[in-house]
Amino acid sequence: MEHSYLIKPLLDAVYPTIDYGKGIYLYDKEGKRYVDASSGAVTANIGHGVPEIIDAMVQQAKRVSFVYRSQFTSEAAEALAGKIAEQCVGSLNWSFFVNSGSEATETAMKIAIQHWQEKGVKTKNKILSRWVSYHGITLGALSMSGHTLRRARFVPLLEDFPSIQPPYCYRCPYNLEPTSCKFACATELENVIKKIGAEHIAAFIAEPVIGAAGGAISPPVGYFKVIKEICDHHQILFIADEVMTGFGRTGKMLACEHWGVEPDIVALGKGMGAGYAPIAAALVSNKVMEPILAGTKSIMSGHTLSANPQSCAVSLAVMEYLQNNRIIEQVELKGFYLSYHLQELKEEFSFIGDIRGKGLLIGIEFVQSVENKEPFPREDQITNKMIQLGANNGILLYPSAAGIDGIHGDAIILAPPLTISKDEIDELIILLRKTFLDFSNEILEGVGK
Ligand code: PMP
Repeated sequence: MEHSYLIKPLLDAVYPTIDYGKGIYLYDKEGKRYVDASSGAVTANIGHGVPEIIDAMVQQAKRVSFVYRSQFTSEAAEALAGKIAEQCVGSLNWSFFVNSGSEATETAMKIAIQHWQEKGVKTKNKILSRWVSYHGITLGALSMSGHTLRRARFVPLLEDFPSIQPPYCYRCPYNLEPTSCKFACATELENVIKKIGAEHIAAFIAEPVIGAAGGAISPPVGYFKVIKEICDHHQILFIADEVMTGFGRTGKMLACEHWGVEPDIVALGKGMGAGYAPIAAALVSNKVMEPILAGTKSIMSGHTLSANPQSCAVSLAVMEYLQNNRIIEQVELKGFYLSYHLQELKEEFSFIGDIRGKGLLIGIEFVQSVENKEPFPREDQITNKMIQLGANNGILLYPSAAGIDGIHGDAIILAPPLTISKDEIDELIILLRKTFLDFSNEILEGVGK
């Protein structure tokens, strides 16, 4: 009988079998080498096979890998929470460890609701979010996600939390210009709150840079200040979903720092374990914790593997590696260098509509016509073809949804390990250019026919 595991995106596709990884490179069993230009799913932030992390894993495994959180705490979990509190803006002094980004956003949502309950406000149960967003795959997280495709099959089970449009300046939902729009997409939050009633809304959640749903959409300067002011004014908590952006991806520990905004709750994931262990977290500020500490003194959530010492030791080692090698402070410069060369490719290839992002989280949106930003026909599956051509050329790219409806657009994300060197960026660009040339020669001719 045919058998396999069921989490491959396409069950009938043939995937190469991985052999090993070193730095920004992955090698399959056939000996083919790939530049990991997306860190997998924007996860392998310090590259593959880092000896310091492997040592930390072995050391922790020799002592103990798992203890249950209601029986023991561990030095690794305590040290990790301490280091996170020290390195994150504001008073995010409380870490609730979980195992995936979806668990982190879902926990963040529950903590927000619990915060209001402990204050005696029982009506604040709704979470607001944006269209063109992704907060995770479990039903609570999917309820918050403005990701049309991923919601589609489950709509009857989901809450209608996505309420406002994203700051997608390339395709402004209001047809305005960033210089004169007065942040219409942010002030819309005020209208929605008035319509629903602030007394029903616990929190607003947003990704600082929109990842998988939009192709690294970075907001205009000032956007998040407006959002945070509206939230504060109406006593609505602000949750930053930093699952993709956190742990240095954009050049700051948290991307919110770029815009001087302190979230009330933060969801972390991906880069926290950098692919070496499953670990994620909801970080909670003093303000949010106060009524909980004065009330039930317990967060009404948790998973069997939450805060296991093995994953915590890995995440701690990742933080130390980032710090000791001064990696985060080099990210913006590397991002500028990569973007500069991408702009050159934009001059060369007519199908590149927009290049955007922050630090080493960069999106490229593809269009049929740069003049009118017309997307490619859906049936041509441009993103998938680009990913496949990239893999043929030995460069791994991350597919993204795009378009203001989150469906009618094609985009990829470039997010190499933050440790990438200048020479390696040059190699990445050579392989990407080869991929774009192949696309021009092999695919573009047949589009729409
Ligand atoms: N939030 C964001 C911003 C994400 O990018 C992702 C993963 N792409 C998630 C949540 C969900 O994380 P996970 O896949 O680890 O559940």
